Amino acid sequence: IVHRQKDEIAYRKSQQAHFENLATTDALTGAVNRLQFNQNLPDEISKANAKQQALSILLLDIDHFKQVNDNFGHGVGDEVLIMFYRACKSATRNTDVVARIGGEEFVIILPNTNAERAFQFAERLRINVEQLEITVDDEKIGLTVSIGVSQWQQDLYEDAQSFVASADKLLYHAKKQGRNKVVCA
Ligand code: GH3
Ligand code: MG
Ligand code: MG
Repeated sequence: IVHRQKDEIAYRKSQQAHFENLATTDALTGAVNRLQFNQNLPDEISKANAKQQALSILLLDIDHFKQVNDNFGHGVGDEVLIMFYRACKSATRNTDVVARIGGEEFVIILPNTNAERAFQFAERLRINVEQLEITVDDEKIGLTVSIGVSQWQQDLYEDAQSFVASADKLLYHAKKQGRNKVVCA
C-alpha cells in the first residue's frame, strides 16, 4: 500500500508540474507567456532594488512580419516565430527571461545587466536574426527585428508597466528610423 501511495504522489506531482508549465508557457514557441511575464518582471525589479543591481529589458518586434504570413502562409509564419524564439533563447543566460507578450512581440529580461551591456547584447542578437538562413522552397525569407532597450531606474519608473512603456517608446523610434535597429535611451 505504501508503494502505491508513493506512486500516486509522484504521479500527482508530475501532473501538477505539467499543468503549471501549460499555464506559464506560450503554446507555440515555448517562451514564457504574457501572464507569467507580468509576474516575473515585478519580481526582478524587487530583486534589483533590494540588491542594488542593474536590470535591463529588451522589447523586440519582428519587422514586417505580416509580409511573411502574406507571402508564405500562416504555417510558415508560425515556424519563423519558433526560429526567432530559439535565436533569442540560445543567446541568453539561464537567469534571463524570454517572453512572448504579443503575436510577434517579445521581451527579454536581463538581470544584473546595465544599459550599455544590454545594448551590446541586443545588437548581437539583431545581427544573429539578420543572418538566420530561412528558406521555403529555395526562396529566402529575410528576417529582421527592431529592439528597444531600457534600464530600470527606481526614481524614474513607477512600476513594471512604465518600465516596459519606456522600452516600447524606444522600439517605436527604432521602427521610425527604418527598422532592423536597436535604440537605447
Ligand atoms: P512592423 O515592422 O511595423 O512591426 O510590421 P509588422 O507587419 O510586423 O506588424 P503588424 O502589427 O502589422 O503585423 C503583425 C503580424 O503578426 C500580423 C499577424 O497576422 C501576425 N501574427 C500575430 N500572431 C501570429 C501568430 O501566432 N502566427 C503567425 N503566423 N502570425 C502571427
Ligand atoms: Mg507588433
Ligand atoms: Mg512587427
